[in-house]
Amino acid sequence: MGRRPPHPGDKSSVMHDVAMPLSPPPAPDPHWAWFFDIDGTLIELEAEPSALRVSHQLSELLETVHRQVGGAVALLSGRTISNIQSLIAPLEIPLAGCHGIERRLADGRVLRPAPSPGMRRARRILTAFVGRHAGLRLEDKGVALALHYRQAPHLETACRDAVERAVSGDLGVLAGKMVFEVKPRDFSKGTALASFMATAPFHGRIPVFLGDDQTDEDGFEAAAAWGGLGILVGPSHPTKAMFRLEDVAALHLWLTDLSAA
Ligand SMILES: [Mg+2]
Repeated sequence: MGRRPPHPGDKSSVMHDVAMPLSPPPAPDPHWAWFFDIDGTLIELEAEPSALRVSHQLSELLETVHRQVGGAVALLSGRTISNIQSLIAPLEIPLAGCHGIERRLADGRVLRPAPSPGMRRARRILTAFVGRHAGLRLEDKGVALALHYRQAPHLETACRDAVERAVSGDLGVLAGKMVFEVKPRDFSKGTALASFMATAPFHGRIPVFLGDDQTDEDGFEAAAAWGGLGILVGPSHPTKAMFRLEDVAALHLWLTDLSAA
């Protein structure tokens, strides 16, 4: 597999549909550049994210992987960097938070753009909307907003309308599992992966990205464009991933083969 940068028309844009089941991935390779989504991928979606046990297991797993792959591992999440860090402490590895908007590099530097000019208006519209409906939660990440409707799934359409009303300028909408994110369109897990691939310790390796939902598709596409592979974790759906693992437990099991590599 080559290590070329992405270019338009790449076969990576091929979308697999559910009628063609994806095979399990090849054995994990310590020479790959490793990129993971967190929720629904490394930990169960239903897991209480702040639970000490989950956090302990996650940091232990990542510490092992980090050692096995020579430090070439990063997390690409919708969570903020500070939230991710509290989850994996004391481990310090490269991170991309808020779907690629903010990044912490291997040397510890944090790159974060100023909030988009349209963010203030979006915040005002969505705060008012959440105030009118029980069961919704607006998470303010500064550079992005997340409208959670897990406690009120019947409000999905109303939430979609509200976020579409709220975006302007460079802002766009990203749909996740029971959440709509309002964020600058120019950033994604794909742009984060590409930026990491241009720097040590990722540069020159073949990227692998593991994720579970719609917000991970940009990451799958970027991994493929860099000559690497996307691995969907969880139930099949139309995806740009090339391989699939059954669930979070299957991913953990698959990773144990790293120690045998
Ligand atoms: Mg996820």
